[in-house]
Amino acid sequence: MKNLNAFKQKFIDKLGQFAKTVDRNKIIISDKARYYDGGQIYEAVERSSKNLGTIPDIYFVHQVDTENQDMVFGKYGALDALCDLKKEGKIRFTGIATHYFDVMLRAENDIRVDVIQGSGNILERGMLERICDFSANKGFILNKVYAAGVLINPFTPEELISGILHYPFSCALLGIGTISQADVAFREYTPVNFSFDSVIKRLQAGFEPICCTRCQRCKCPHGTEIHTIFRQYNYYHLGKDFWALKKLSLDIESSAHNCMTCTHTSCMKNCPLKLNIPELMMKISLLVKDRIEYDYRNLF
Ligand code: SF4
Ligand code: SF4
Repeated sequence: MKNLNAFKQKFIDKLGQFAKTVDRNKIIISDKARYYDGGQIYEAVERSSKNLGTIPDIYFVHQVDTENQDMVFGKYGALDALCDLKKEGKIRFTGIATHYFDVMLRAENDIRVDVIQGSGNILERGMLERICDFSANKGFILNKVYAAGVLINPFTPEELISGILHYPFSCALLGIGTISQADVAFREYTPVNFSFDSVIKRLQAGFEPICCTRCQRCKCPHGTEIHTIFRQYNYYHLGKDFWALKKLSLDIESSAHNCMTCTHTSCMKNCPLKLNIPELMMKISLLVKDRIEYDYRNLF
């Protein structure tokens, strides 16, 4: 953690130095902090400006979710503080960053929010398809175009970029660690509309994916985050097995148990892909159980 903070500080210092060498009007700097209370985010913005040596253009409240959203959007919450900072000229635009469609919708309907940041790619396209209905009066920044890197292998970066261009976002965030990755990111692309079936077919060369778009229309009264569990299952097979197993093992057993005893299966009524959600939960639960038992056996 100490190393990570040192790395972040080094990056911020470098960005600040870079900002001094270019025409500041030609670049947009965005920053974010995971503080939901007004006072804390106010201080975070002042710290960022000091480190950067310039003001951030857009400042996002990071990882707003269904649990913390009332604090963020409420009186004296982070969003109120960002509005004050904007009035004082300490930032130019306010932002909400989230992985949850309901939070995006709330941000879309809140006049205090200038920019929304959300995730999506050619596989997890459900939220992107739903934001097509949003009015175009706010900026929309898209992240996870490469799905945390897991889609680079079944697809080329060129395919992943051209495959999202027909969605109505203002700017996409792409991970760039090398010169060749920067070359790919800054090229000009023609939009390509990959059908969801063709994406699934490509993945089927390696495993049997769950055909979930992460549209988040399914709701579970027990609070099971169906789309997150299905994502973890797919990521498990796409190379993030350690990470996914760790996350899944936290509560997949109780989620699957709830599904087994669920009589209304209300989640399935809203799934446009008609996925058999309880059956899939059971399948994932068994996979996790088998894998944990296998690891345990190999330990001794
Ligand atoms: S089947 Fe019932 S318990 Fe399982 S996810 Fe759907 S609503 Fe929740
Ligand atoms: S399970 Fe169905 S409704 Fe739920 S996120 Fe996936 S595609 Fe959407």
